[in-house]
Amino acid sequence: MNTQRIAILGDLLDIEQAPPPGTPLDEIPAGVRWRPAHWLLIEDGRISAVQAEAPDASWPRDERPGQLILPGFVDTHVHAPQLDVIASYGTELLDWLQRYTFPAETAWADPAVAAAGSALFLDQLLAHGTTSALVFPTVHKTSVDALFGAALQRGMRLISGKCLMDRHAPPALCDTVASGERDTLALLAAWTGKGRLAYAHTVRFAPTSSEAQLRLAGELHAASPGSYVQTHVAENRAEVDWVRELFPGYRSYLDVYERHGLLTAQTTLAHGIWLDADARARLRDTRAVIAHSPTSNLFLGSGLFVWRGRASDGMRLSIASDVGGGVSLSMQRTLAAAYQVAALQGQRLDAFTLLHAATRGNAASLQLDQEIGRLEPGLVADVVAWDWAEPGSVLAHRLGRANSLHEKLFAWLMLGDERLLRRTWVAGRAFG
Ligand SMILES: [Zn+2]
Repeated sequence: MNTQRIAILGDLLDIEQAPPPGTPLDEIPAGVRWRPAHWLLIEDGRISAVQAEAPDASWPRDERPGQLILPGFVDTHVHAPQLDVIASYGTELLDWLQRYTFPAETAWADPAVAAAGSALFLDQLLAHGTTSALVFPTVHKTSVDALFGAALQRGMRLISGKCLMDRHAPPALCDTVASGERDTLALLAAWTGKGRLAYAHTVRFAPTSSEAQLRLAGELHAASPGSYVQTHVAENRAEVDWVRELFPGYRSYLDVYERHGLLTAQTTLAHGIWLDADARARLRDTRAVIAHSPTSNLFLGSGLFVWRGRASDGMRLSIASDVGGGVSLSMQRTLAAAYQVAALQGQRLDAFTLLHAATRGNAASLQLDQEIGRLEPGLVADVVAWDWAEPGSVLAHRLGRANSLHEKLFAWLMLGDERLLRRTWVAGRAFG
């Protein structure tokens, strides 16, 4: 057997558990593992040990003294084709879809466009330190083939599936109940069990699916063990009003999904800003996850999500870039926006809670925390090396005045971004 081994030296940081609100932050809280000048040993794609002493001379070494070694970030809601429309001016959600997003997604009908776009998208995720993601492609079957093919080449943990949308979109972006079923079954047959891929039944959002298609999506989810569901819910008030008109027989927007079998512990719903107490209770009881997408919510003017409040309601939460409504693939930028959204509501998210959200927290939201999200022997070696700062930068200046790990990490999350990335490993294989 051809054993692939590498020993990485650096300052290892991972978060087993976010500290409870109000925990003093001058000392390192329980659940935060800070292991400076340690070795991370990787063997055949998995972490085999973490240790202070150097490994024996048989190990190939990658020594990065002073660099921050983190688990790869996990992005729980992001749209591959929307790098073409990121940072588009002047609209709220429903106009933004019509004016920018739907035309960009139409181009992915061409397999060559989808292949080039998927390669670009995944390379950009890796260049931002994101090694796993739950991704929206387009309605086209070829978009999923392209994305899964590119993820398989890179060895990435990637969850995706073709968008189901049979109404209220341009004809070039609409499937039918029959073609949606046929394409989904073909994709499940082609990709199930390949590499680190998993299938997500992907309802764009309730307005773009008929009730017959929503029913189909729920039936397909129930019939494909291990599959996921991804969609959007209650992002914007005009959207919520529209769903109320389109689905008059339902108690709420969320109820449209629940009554079609789409709310399970394998479901991730982006946004969830405008949900009432009853819908929030249904989320808690079904264990479906809300993916908070703060840069998107700010950019499109959708609203302010209440992270602490929803967590204390017992809801499962994750954090996401939502590019291209979101304005950056960077998890540092995403976490900084989450901090600011919470601050506008008089709440504070500490740096350990933020970093946990983007790593182990997001992994757990996808039921993958025994595979990714920590620097733990046995887990897959999705790992990223970062510099703390560029010499001479404002961040370097600020870090020089930091008195605790928390102060340092918080400044790094607020001021850092993908330009500090030095190397990404996916299942032990180096990129960049
Ligand atoms: Zn989205």
